[in-house]
Amino acid sequence: MIGESRIVREFVEHGRVEDCPVIDTHGHFGPYQAIYFPRWRPEHVLESMERCGVRWLIMSGHAALVDTSRGNQQIAQVIAEHPDRFLGWWVVNPHYPERVENDLLRFDGLTGFVGFKIHPNQHGVPLNDDRYTPLFEYAHEHELPVLSHTWQGRGMSSFREVADVAERYPGMTLIMGHAGYGDWEESARVARDHERVYLELTAAYSVRGSLEIMIEHAGSRRILFGTDSPWFNPHYGIGCVLSAYMTDEDRRNILYRNAQDLFGLPID
Ligand SMILES: [Zn+2]
Repeated sequence: MIGESRIVREFVEHGRVEDCPVIDTHGHFGPYQAIYFPRWRPEHVLESMERCGVRWLIMSGHAALVDTSRGNQQIAQVIAEHPDRFLGWWVVNPHYPERVENDLLRFDGLTGFVGFKIHPNQHGVPLNDDRYTPLFEYAHEHELPVLSHTWQGRGMSSFREVADVAERYPGMTLIMGHAGYGDWEESARVARDHERVYLELTAAYSVRGSLEIMIEHAGSRRILFGTDSPWFNPHYGIGCVLSAYMTDEDRRNILYRNAQDLFGLPID
């Protein structure tokens, strides 16, 4: 099946495929404490995107995960400089309720931001904690997407907490960053059972067979491509989608169609 795919053949030959663009829904921006990124600057990121046909990159600021006001501002500036390639996730930190209120008010007037990013594990606040209520109510009411870090286990950001939140806020689109890493099948079922829950692939690439499990239990229409750029290079993630067992229609759904529909993005 892989050998017969035109998309695979063309990616291998040319590094990119003209009629199969890529939308990277999970990126970050800036340097990060405790790890060295050789290529985090916009010109480096854009160069990698160009080489493998990544049309859009939606990213949040590393700094914003610590200090939302400084970090979100930084992202606003970067995407304003490249409005045809970069889009933003507006980070919300549940530890500062008064700031959350203000951040939600500010979100209304922003351009280039598609939704919100939260990181339950880094902030130590479970996904179904009450401190997210103002954000989830806002996203539900305005039918906006929230990208959350999700990971296996119990009581923080697993498929269990995702299902709980998705049932309480059905208007909100909930993107499971890392696809609930480890609990592949259960997470895929949660996506299948909730119209607005999606599986995002960052880190899933490292586990051979995880993409096939997601396709079997959720279907390729519920899967979004992402890389955690600049943590990982897009070539790696694309290569994993190309080498997993699936049809070219599945590859198109994952690499761009689902994100294009979800965020209403032009791709040519
Ligand atoms: Zn991330």
